[in-house]
Amino acid sequence: PPRSEKDEKGTNIQVVVRCRGRTQREIAENIPVIVDAASNTQEITLKTTNKTYTFDRVFGQETTQQHIYDDVVSPILQEMLMGYNCTIFAYGQTGTGKTYTMEGDLEDQEGYITRDAGIIPRTLYHLFDVLDQEEAEYAVRISSIELYNEELKDLLNPGDDRPKLRIFEDPNGTGVIVQGLEEALINSAEDGVRAIQLASRNRRIAATKCNDKSSRSHCVFTLTVHIKETLADGEELLKVGKLNLVDLAGSENIGRSGAENARAREAGLINQSLLTLGRVINHLVEHSVHVPYRESKLTRLLRDSLGGRTKTCIIATIATAKIHYEEIISTLDYASRAK
Ligand code: ADP
Ligand code: MG
Repeated sequence: PPRSEKDEKGTNIQVVVRCRGRTQREIAENIPVIVDAASNTQEITLKTTNKTYTFDRVFGQETTQQHIYDDVVSPILQEMLMGYNCTIFAYGQTGTGKTYTMEGDLEDQEGYITRDAGIIPRTLYHLFDVLDQEEAEYAVRISSIELYNEELKDLLNPGDDRPKLRIFEDPNGTGVIVQGLEEALINSAEDGVRAIQLASRNRRIAATKCNDKSSRSHCVFTLTVHIKETLADGEELLKVGKLNLVDLAGSENIGRSGAENARAREAGLINQSLLTLGRVINHLVEHSVHVPYRESKLTRLLRDSLGGRTKTCIIATIATAKIHYEEIISTLDYASRAK
């Protein structure tokens, strides 16, 4: 993917936009498409205002899951294998394809992913393909956390009677430890897919008990890989890489006016983690000295993977039909500020 001058300044944040086509209903009702995505110039133009936005990559509605994986995720997996901490976020209004992009179809057919499989299952298969070809010893761990109303839940082991998960910053470095979190060792992509199926089911069960939970919760799926290489002189080298795949809460929950919207705040609709994430990213882009990581659970959780020697990609998902005009602008504005 084309890298702009910001990489030379040392900001390793990439922003891409994925458009989803109109729903059956939007088509039946003849609602016009107002988004034009030009993948040659990486520009999105809104037909209503002729306003143009430029991103690192733009993906039109016809883009396949495979294409997103190859263009956006595969290079990041390579960075993880070199020992970087990396994060990929799906950001956007509810219904625009965040979960489709991250998880998609989780069924595997006799050890193969399907066409609709999203980033997580594709990453698992790719990761084990690469590791199995190397002559190194390795260990892969997987964990999954749901964050709702600034509380954490272990999606691999969600019992209601379990003690609350707590985030600790490792005193020896910048690492983050989540006390009580299950980090399952997996030996194959199939193991990993079973774990994510379980996490996804646990997230859905919780969501049916609480109406708006699925749009207001964040889901963080983390893969950690330890690779031990033996160098020619017999010396051993340990590389540790981490990849966080994050399905964020619906961006409609922060609204265009963000924190200034007092009424929304009173109603408990302001999502502290989503707001703080935006601020943290803006600080990182502007190279400020004080980055407000501590102001939300999400940014505390991801602290060792945001800023410094890390790689971040935001996949902003947008609708294309005119009825979503406000939310499309809001998402494009948020995504532009992260560049
Ligand atoms: P979100 O997680 O952002 O709320 P979903 O991923 O649940 O949205 O998507 C809403 C619906 O639209 C789902 O039925 C999903 O399968 C479908 N969908 C989303 N994006 C695409 C796409 N790019 N291609 C085909 N179907 C999509
Ligand atoms: Mg979703």
